[in-house]
Order: sequence, then structure tokens, then C-alpha cells
Amino acid sequence: MALTISQKCKNIQPSVTLAIDSRAKQLRAMGLDVIGFGAGEPDFDTPKYIKDAAKDALDAGLTKYTPVSGTVELKNEIQAKLLRDNNLEYEQTDIIVSTGAKQCLFNALSAILDPGDEVLIPAPAWVSYPEMVAMAGGVPIMVSGSAENNFTVPAEELAAHITPKTKALILNSPNNPTGCVLDATLLRQYADLAVEHGFYVISDEIYEKLIYDGGRHVSIASLGEDIKAQTIVINGVSKSYSMTGWRIGYAAGPKNVIKAMTSFQSHTTSNANSIAQHAAAVALTNGERFMHESLMEFTARRNLMFDMLASIDGLKCTMPQGAFYMMLNISSLIGKKVNGKVISGSDDFASALLESKMVAVVPARAFGDDRYVRLSYATTREKIIVGIGRIAEFVKECE
Ligand code: PMP
Ligand code: GLU
Repeated sequence: MALTISQKCKNIQPSVTLAIDSRAKQLRAMGLDVIGFGAGEPDFDTPKYIKDAAKDALDAGLTKYTPVSGTVELKNEIQAKLLRDNNLEYEQTDIIVSTGAKQCLFNALSAILDPGDEVLIPAPAWVSYPEMVAMAGGVPIMVSGSAENNFTVPAEELAAHITPKTKALILNSPNNPTGCVLDATLLRQYADLAVEHGFYVISDEIYEKLIYDGGRHVSIASLGEDIKAQTIVINGVSKSYSMTGWRIGYAAGPKNVIKAMTSFQSHTTSNANSIAQHAAAVALTNGERFMHESLMEFTARRNLMFDMLASIDGLKCTMPQGAFYMMLNISSLIGKKVNGKVISGSDDFASALLESKMVAVVPARAFGDDRYVRLSYATTREKIIVGIGRIAEFVKECE
């Protein structure tokens, strides 16, 4: 008799974002000239002061297990950061460090969900949220925002999906994949709903440092003690310090939730990497200059990509306010043919574009809207010029 895979794992869809990125990297390794707009990963190297800190950690012998929820050194820096940037006061026991923001999210969902609990997810949304909710035994409830509304979901629409089983709401501002930023007024309305109906808010703030045109990040947890007591703030160093491979994320929230997340992590992965924890602590003490420079560069890339795309007949996009993603509306091409093949949705568009023009984008079906593809502008201006030029040629060949 053939041994089987669990039902839970059979139902998991692999991460499309990571799959596209590895496909693009694989083609590049084969010597092909691929332009990657797929990866949600800053292309800058990790700043030298952070790399030096990792070398110091090795030399100082910081190579052993640390406390499961993170070193005192790193938790001190996280505490200071949350107070400085977000006006949020937490004790050390309200904080956990994990292997990337991804693990924090999964720990949080595992700590709060019972089988059948519903989690509201405004969409388009990052691919991993619904999968993680399902893996933790919950039921993802996607609530779609429209491009006309800057992809945000009005509070009354969200309210229409609240049921007695609603256990949490996942917010992500600035947003992956839309680039939209939630303002304090809408956050207040969401907070009122959470407090009135008694559900958690998981606030994924990983792109907090990437907001354009002078916009300001507001953490929903900072809107009052009532909502803070129900919010789990998720953040990390991957995007703001160009440290995606180092795998350090953190969460802050109600003591009992953090305690449960810590117990859960103690039996799965133990502590996050000790060397990376020291490097992340140093990153948090001194990153303003690096982040200012990256924001300037991302602003130039965003404007360049938007202007080039706007000049292509048949495509539409919305100017993102944050993160480094742009949603491109391809609906006018759906039903057309390219190289004899019909484009029936965003998957076909993305695979035909990769095959014929060597440009990687992510089909937004994965984010809940098949009329779009997501482009990441975390790549050089030169590559943006070449890549968008190829997209323009591709569009012309669609008939
Ligand atoms: N949240 C969002 C919205 C993301 O796009 C990502 C992508 N990496 C993560 C969380 C996970 O970040 P990390 O690298 O810290 O696991
Ligand atoms: N979050 C990034 C993205 O959406 C990196 C890949 C991943 O972790 O999903 O592309």
C-alpha cells in the first residue's frame, strides 16, 4: 500500500512568489538574460555595518542557543524601535523574535486559531496569508477591495463579513501586492469593529519604512489601549535593511499570545539564528541613512516604472503609495492571442511573457485578482527600462 501525504499538506499551494523568483534565478543561472520583476526582495546588498556586526558575533562566540523568544540585546532594540517609530510601549515579555516575519505570522495564527475560526483578509493579499490561516486550522475569508478605491476595503464592507466565528483580521500596510497605505481614519474604523466584535488584528508592518511622497506609517495598535490589547504587530528586518536571507522577524502583542507563540516556537524551530539576531540588533540601532537612501532610490524606480507603463496602450496601473510593488491591469489583453496561444488570465500572461520576452512578473490570481499581474520594482533603473520596453513589445504582439 502506498504511503500517503497528509490531507493538510496536500491542500497547500506552494508559494507562487517564491516559485517565480527561483524560476527567474534558475534561467539566469543558465545564462539567459531574464529581467526579474517577480521577487519581493530589495536588490541592495545588506549594509556593511550589519555584515560587520555578524562577523563580530562569530568572533565573540555568539554561536549557541539563545532564549527561544530572542536575545535580551535584540529585544531591547525592538522595544526601543517600537516606541521611537510607532509610539508603542511593550515589555520584553510582549515581544518574540522568529525566523522571519513569516514565522511570526504562522506562530501568531497557530496561537489564536481553533478549527473553523474565520480570519478576514482584505484582498488582493499576499499569497501566504490564506495558506497560513488554513495550515493553522482556520478559514480564510477574502474581502476584495477595488482599484477605484485604491484597493482598500471600506469598513462597512468588512463589517458585512463579520460572523460569530470571526477570530482575526490580517492587515498589511503598506500592502503587498497593491502598494496601498491605510490611513488613520480607516484604521480607526477597523479598530472599532475589532473592539466591538472582539477579534484580534494581526498587523503586518514589514513595509513600514517604504512609504512615498511624505506619507506616514500608522500602526493600528497605536490608536488606543483597547485596540493595542487585541493587536499582534508583525515586523522584521528583511525589507527595511535588505536582510531577506538573514531571516529575522519579530512580533509584539498581548502577553498571553506572545507566550503561546513562544511555546509553539520552542517545539518547532527554537530560537532564530544567533548571529543574525546580533546583526539585526545592530541594524536597528543605526539604519536611518541607509533607509533614507533606499527610499530615494525606490521613489525614482517607482516613478520610472509607472511612467513607462502608463505610456503603453492597453495597460493600466495604479500609482503605489508604499512597498515596492505595482499592480498592472491586463484585462484588455485577456482573450487575445500571443504566439498562437490565448491569454485566458494572469497565469497565461505571466508565463507567455517569461517564455517569449524573459521578463518575470507574478500573476495576481495568486493574490485574488486574475485581471492583474504584480511587478516588483526592487531592481535597478536600467533593468526597469529594458524590462518595461520588452513588456511594450509583448503587448504589441498580442492580437
Ligand atoms: N509579510 C509580507 C506582506 C511579505 O511580503 C513578506 C515577504 N517576504 C513577509 C511578510 C515575510 O517576510 P520575512 O522575509 O521577514 O519572512
Ligand atoms: N514577500 C515577497 C513576495 O511577495 C517574497 C517572497 C515571499 O516570501 O513570498 O514576493
